[in-house]
Order: sequence, then C-alpha cells, then structure tokens
Amino acid sequence: MRLQGKTILVTAAGQGIGRASALACQAEGANVIATDVNGALLAGLDGIRTKVLDVTDPLAIQAIAAEIGPLDGLFNCAGFVHHGTILDVSDADWAFSFDLNVTAMMRLTRACLPGMLERAAVTGTASILNMASMASSIKGFVNRTVYGASKAAVIGLTKGIAADFVKQGIRCNALCPGTVDTPSLRGRIAASADPVQAEKDFIARQPMGRLATVDDITPMVVFLLSDESRFVSGQAMLVDGGVTI
Ligand code: NAD
Repeated sequence: MRLQGKTILVTAAGQGIGRASALACQAEGANVIATDVNGALLAGLDGIRTKVLDVTDPLAIQAIAAEIGPLDGLFNCAGFVHHGTILDVSDADWAFSFDLNVTAMMRLTRACLPGMLERAAVTGTASILNMASMASSIKGFVNRTVYGASKAAVIGLTKGIAADFVKQGIRCNALCPGTVDTPSLRGRIAASADPVQAEKDFIARQPMGRLATVDDITPMVVFLLSDESRFVSGQAMLVDGGVTI
C-alpha cells in the first residue's frame, strides 16, 4: 500500500482523471477526500469521503480547508479547455480559464499548505500535485492559446511553491498528460464540425497511435503523491505517449 496512512484531497474527482486518481489513491491505502463542483458526479465513489467543492469559490475553499484538517497530499486536478485562437478569446474567456486553471489552484494550495507543513514536520514530507498539460510552456498546439497559457502558469506556480518550501518537506510537482480519453474530451470531439475527423486528429497527434486512458495517467499521480517520489520536486512530469519525444 503505497499511500497507506496518507490523507489526500483531489479536486474535480467527479469524472475523468480526477475520479480515476481518487480511486487509485484509495486502492493504495489513502484516506481520500474526493471533491467536485457537481455533487451528483461523486456518486459511486464507495468508501471515499466526498464533498462538493467549487474551486473558484474562495469562501468554499476556506471552509473546506478548515473542515478537513491537515493533508499529506493535495491533487489540484480541476481545469477547463478553451478552444480557439487568440482572435476567438474574449476577456471573459481569458479570465474564466485563469480563474479555474490557475487562481483556484493557488487559493486551495494556500489554504491547505499550513496544515501540510504541520504534517511534513511530523512525517518528513507532504506532496502537492498540480494538473498542467503537455499543452503549456512545454509545447504549443493549435486552438489552445488560453489553455496553454494557463497551464504554463501552473508550471510556474508549481516551481515557485517547490522552491519556497523544499526545506520544509513540501514537494510540489506538475502533471503534464497527453490527450486523455475523458468525458470532456468526448464533449470536445462531439462539439466539433466533424467529430469522426476530430477524433482521428486527436489520435494522430499521439505518436503511440492512441489516446491515453485515465489508467495510463494514474500511476504517475500515485507515484508523485507517494514517498517513492521523495527526491522529486518542482518538476513538470510528462505522460504524453511520446508527443514531446
Ligand atoms: P473532465 O474535464 O472530463 O472533468 C472535469 C471535472 O471537473 C468534472 O467532474 C467537473 O464537474 C469538474 N469541475 C468543473 N469545474 C469545476 C469547479 N469550478 N470546481 C470543481 N470541479 C470542477 O476531466 P479531465 O479531462 O480528466 O480533465 C481533468 C484535468 O486534466 C483538467 O485540469 C484538464 O485540463 C487536465 N488535462 C486533461 C487532458 C485530457 O486530454 N483530458 C490532458 C491534459 C490535461
């Protein structure tokens, strides 16, 4: 049990990578707190403590941080994919993406960090994992300007936290998946003008010739939240099926 005895909070755990990560952490012995803005999506997470949390709500963040107590692990998974070039971006689109993808992550981490420092003082380590993407400062993609800019900011945020708290046992890493078959990806495919071609295009950009499944991603989540990664901090960890070879 690689996460035995650890208390780990996961955001956006209702579906996709967040849900699979909550289940993978539970399977490794963690006491998981699975959160999502959509409470109905948290159904069926048997044996896992679930909480409704809109990560863009600063008061809700304060409330949950006070309620749950010190964490050993925090997986900031929530994020939104804006589709379009810079010419398609309204100020509201930009603000929404940065609010959800970056500012919310900063707020939740800021709220949970004092408790994580307490835990790290006892156990020697606590781990923050921030969801970025291969589409970020790592690689540019068409129609992903806002998304890539916000995920690049996640990598910067991650490195800053890692640098500031490395001597106090806090590790902070960013996860950078390739294209993962999740409900929101299926929604993006369905919303395109030619869904069949859109799916082919998503697969074509993956050198391994297929989309990732959530189960391709969760082993890295468990590793980064576990003590196996105790000498790893400030990294943007790619799990991208070879896109950035
Ligand atoms: P998804 O997009 O299918 O699901 C997102 C979940 O986030 C939903 O359960 C939704 O209810 C929840 N959510 C939305 N707004 C929220 C809010 N304000 N507060 C709390 N929860 C909220 O899941 P996914 O595709 O696995 O994406 C999860 C993360 O992984 C995102 O940050 C995304 O950018 C990132 N990512 C996804 C891919 C991919 O190809 N799917 C690739 C790289 C990175």
